[in-house]
Amino acid sequence: MAVFKLDNVEDLYEIGNVLGSGHFGQVREVRERSTSVLWAGKFLKLKKGAGSRLGLERKSVEKEVEILQGLQHQNIMSIRDVFESRAEVVLIIELIKGGELFDFIAEKENLTETEAIEFMTQILEGVSYMHKKNVGHFDLKPENIMLSDKLAPNPDIKIIDFGMAHRFILGEEYKSLGGTPQYIAPEIINFEPLGTAADMWSIGVITYILLSGLSPFQGDTDEETLRNIVSMSYEFEPHHFSQTSNMAKDFILKLLVKDQSKRMTADECLIHPWIKPLNRTQIAKRNRSSINMKSFKKFNARRKWKMSFNMVSACNRFCRMQLQCKARGPEQPELRDCESDQEDTGTKPASLLRRRLSSNS
Ligand code: ATP
Repeated sequence: MAVFKLDNVEDLYEIGNVLGSGHFGQVREVRERSTSVLWAGKFLKLKKGAGSRLGLERKSVEKEVEILQGLQHQNIMSIRDVFESRAEVVLIIELIKGGELFDFIAEKENLTETEAIEFMTQILEGVSYMHKKNVGHFDLKPENIMLSDKLAPNPDIKIIDFGMAHRFILGEEYKSLGGTPQYIAPEIINFEPLGTAADMWSIGVITYILLSGLSPFQGDTDEETLRNIVSMSYEFEPHHFSQTSNMAKDFILKLLVKDQSKRMTADECLIHPWIKPLNRTQIAKRNRSSINMKSFKKFNARRKWKMSFNMVSACNRFCRMQLQCKARGPEQPELRDCESDQEDTGTKPASLLRRRLSSNS
């Protein structure tokens, strides 16, 4: 079982600026007082009681910590320490200074497939490592793929946020409805037993977006998106994929496969000719092909806008709840900040769709 220290984190670390926010708390820059080394602190609110709607179950934080403690890889964010107080847990994690990979790419004028593949290879190496350790991430998406340092000549990819991750135990079935609609595999929506192949589906979606700036299954609503996934309704729209090599399309086609047992694994991806060309002709094809930068920049701008919108909505919802709590009296939960109150909207449409599909069948 993961050991959470009971020391006051602020005695050992000076708490700095906010780096980002998630559903259950904030990530802040922290400086270790004894060494002046910078880290990131992930502050997670804990549920106050069984009936509380706010915060995380301690068990779920323990799961995230135990999984992270078992993973040591250059392309996976590392964890150093964990502190616990009455109301929150603080994970001291590797500080990742380079921001999100998609933001880094969106700042470029152009990017060849060869350059994009350098990043894809690192993502696949991180994923292959975790899958060999029987860990599935289950929330691979652009927001969770960061860069160690964007000013470095060859920045390292860092996969973050193991809040939905699961370690498989031989003989035990695992099902989950969590995830972000655009990126989740059909077996999640259908509430089938899951394996690490669900991550490979998400990598297929991420690659599709990276090359074209289009999201393959995106509908006008989450429900429509989920329906598109279940019915495998996607195509390589010629206008957006005019600069894409056939090898890249083949790579995606072998990931966006409904049958999880037929989907490429991370190791198979690493030897696919798009990632590891077999001859000069294949190398030349990759160099001649590029990502659709105009469309990619548009996708990324929309994505960032949606993230800000969600953050503002969460803040508003939190403020409304706080007012209601105050009106009800002092017994009610008290929170550190707006983000920790954000509802997990990711799971809702999936369960909604599942109910709808089963009631129709
Ligand atoms: P979610 O609600 O998506 O599950 P979460 O509460 O689990 O999120 P994270 O996704 O781990 O939180 O982190 C939230 C944000 O904080 C990230 O999107 C990123 O911008 C920033 N962040 C997370 N980890 C680090 C890190 N190690 N270094 C720098 N910034 C980070």
